[in-house]
Amino acid sequence: MSESFKNLLAPLDLGFTVLKNRVLMGSMHTMLEEIPGGFERAAVYYAERAKGQVGLIITGGISPNEAGVVAQHGAKLTNENEVEKHKLITKAVHEENGTICMQILHTGRYSYNQNLVAPSPIQAPINFFTPKELSLTEIHTTIDDFVKCALLAQKAGYDGVEIMGSEGYLINQFIVKRTNHRTDEYGGKYENRIKFPLEIIKKTRAAVGEKFIIVYRLSMLDLVEEGSSWTEVVQLAKEVEKAGATIINTGIGWHEARIPTIATVVPRGGFSWVTEKLMGEVNIPLVAVNRINTAEIAEEIIATGKANMVSLARPFLADPDFVLKAKEGRSEEINTCIACNQACLDHTFTMQISSCLVNPRACHETELNYSKTAMPKRIIIVGAGPAGLACASISAERGHHVTIYEAGKEIGGQFNMAKVIPGKEEYAETIRYYKNMLKKHQVKVKLNTKVTPEILEAEKFDELIIATGVTPRIPIIPGIDHPKVLNYVEVLYNRKSVGKKVAIIGAGGIGFDVAEFLAHEGISPSLNTKKYMDEWGVDMQHKHPGSLTFPHVEASAREIYLLKRSGGKHGKDLGKTTGWIHRASLKLKNVQMLANVQYLKIDDAGLHILQNGENGILNVDNVVICAGQESLRSLYDLLKENGKSVHLIGGAKLANELDAKRAIYEAAHLAAKL
Ligand code: FAD
Ligand code: NAP
Ligand code: SF4
Repeated sequence: MSESFKNLLAPLDLGFTVLKNRVLMGSMHTMLEEIPGGFERAAVYYAERAKGQVGLIITGGISPNEAGVVAQHGAKLTNENEVEKHKLITKAVHEENGTICMQILHTGRYSYNQNLVAPSPIQAPINFFTPKELSLTEIHTTIDDFVKCALLAQKAGYDGVEIMGSEGYLINQFIVKRTNHRTDEYGGKYENRIKFPLEIIKKTRAAVGEKFIIVYRLSMLDLVEEGSSWTEVVQLAKEVEKAGATIINTGIGWHEARIPTIATVVPRGGFSWVTEKLMGEVNIPLVAVNRINTAEIAEEIIATGKANMVSLARPFLADPDFVLKAKEGRSEEINTCIACNQACLDHTFTMQISSCLVNPRACHETELNYSKTAMPKRIIIVGAGPAGLACASISAERGHHVTIYEAGKEIGGQFNMAKVIPGKEEYAETIRYYKNMLKKHQVKVKLNTKVTPEILEAEKFDELIIATGVTPRIPIIPGIDHPKVLNYVEVLYNRKSVGKKVAIIGAGGIGFDVAEFLAHEGISPSLNTKKYMDEWGVDMQHKHPGSLTFPHVEASAREIYLLKRSGGKHGKDLGKTTGWIHRASLKLKNVQMLANVQYLKIDDAGLHILQNGENGILNVDNVVICAGQESLRSLYDLLKENGKSVHLIGGAKLANELDAKRAIYEAAHLAAKL
């Protein structure tokens, strides 16, 4: 066992049972429990993580009744019939010697179903339905529903339950004044508002007996106005312990909070200081959460006493063997979650099955497999961007003999530009992962070689894969050759110097990223927790309820205009769960967003535009072109003309709406079949 992670990998004795290590797989709603045949798939998905040695798995949220579902027809556990499906999961996990708790989640006013309920009839800013106020009798029934649900979970073979009391869901709605305006015994003073969770825990403990894990997820930092104060958090934690919980897990931020808590901009382990503050106040184990994505940061949190356990959720989509690799001293082989949300949360919020940008097998374990080949082939891959790298690494892992060519001096393709954006430093980890995979699986890497048909003539191969990616689109604008015009590659990769006043043409993902890059100076807030909390207005002293304070943002390093031809809101096509962050971040930096712009010409005076019928000149030092991309497929076209059989993947296949999710997905599916 690796000495480097000895604190993380130390067993945790809960009295009646021992967890094999300090790593908890946090709850994630994958949608698997809500599709036909989904429980069979979920069983394989969880069992793979158990096999990968995670200490304790928490399932996605399961509602204790009809009103509390995430959305209409959402997963619930309310009767004996539903128990049978859950047994598939518990059996599969126990066969791998794993430990699993089912999360009981009542969404309250966050439910996307018309019969939603809450302590008070106050609509959530992120829901279009208004909840009905629970009557006193209905409160008692709901508490009983939680207890019944826990008993059914026990019957289904779970080792325990997690009672979801954070992120702004029903229990959290009872706890704070913001959402609880009741005047009866469940409203008013704090003691009344916390009665609901405490009765649930007490009654559940009485029903399930002493030898059943009860994790309570406690909202330690609401990040909304009229949220809990720190004194209240401590009081609740003590009461939760007395009521019979085994473990307290941390909750950070309500879903309606306007502070990013898990996106890639959040520093690694950036909220562990919150759990640390509660250490010593209770005698049961505490779990730190959010943006813990490497074994090193997880070990540091446990070793320095910030928490007794760590919760990692998305990192187990990215790599089911996270713990196993750490245990075997192979942490550099972990496929790191880059916190992009693109294939996990963004999928959930658009009613698609979750997966992972860097691991398309996640939640598709029964469909996409990388079996060893019986007939090793010689495979050549052209282009070492995300598509080429994924294809090379998986093909070689399957036993093929792979050579990858790259025109540039390093592997990574456009991720070499993504990783320099403040807040996207994690993207370097994907390149690190592939670098190690290529080495492990003995892929021959030929850098600084722009492949031509002639080079390929000299090679012997059975399969040829073109993954040559994209090149920036250069729009036709008079003056586009002016020296003050740069494209995003020149700015981000070649590091050409950029003046103090800049206009960016194109407000897609890359335009936003370039604006972020040009606005920042000095250390990225994503690499400095204190700076991050200051910039987003998180009150680390807990002086205000909900722990909110005024953001203190460093002024932008430049005067920046972000332009687009179309109308409407900037960034509306960015990720569902991250677009608002990019917009808010640039607003804090005072980036000027102009829509409905026509580009007339570029000259010494600047960029001449027509906007809403009015002519104007943006008197800028530089104009940076971020106007989309075009496929680099001339090599493919030449080879096809010569009658060669070639595979085409990633940006080279289609530049439109290309992202790394699609590039890696296509590569993985091709590599699985070769
Ligand atoms: P590329 O990454 O373009 O790689 C192609 C490779 O082929 C290059 O390394 C190139 O040098 C090489 N090559 C080309 N021709 C030849 C040849 N003839 N011989 C040898 N080698 C050749 N996507 C997301 O999903 N999420 C994000 O947050 C995100 N952020 C981004 C931020 C920035 C600043 C940028 C620029 C891109 C971002 N992207 C993001 C887009 C993402 O990086 C691309 O979708 C992805 O890189 C496409 O992968 P690819 O392998 O198809 O192409
Ligand atoms: P994009 O999202 O397609 O945006 C291109 C922008 O250029 C648009 O704003 C478009 O808007 C403008 N444009 C297009 N043709 C133009 C022309 N001829 N003249 C002037 N303007 C033109 O492409 P991108 O920003 O290059 O990003 C590429 C891909 O990388 C994206 O598809 C994205 O998925 C991915 N990416 C994702 C992220 C992320 O955070 N998830 C970040 C970066 C990149 P108008 O037509 O309105 O002017
Ligand atoms: Fe992490 Fe992105 Fe994968 Fe989600 S899609 S698990 S955020 S790498």
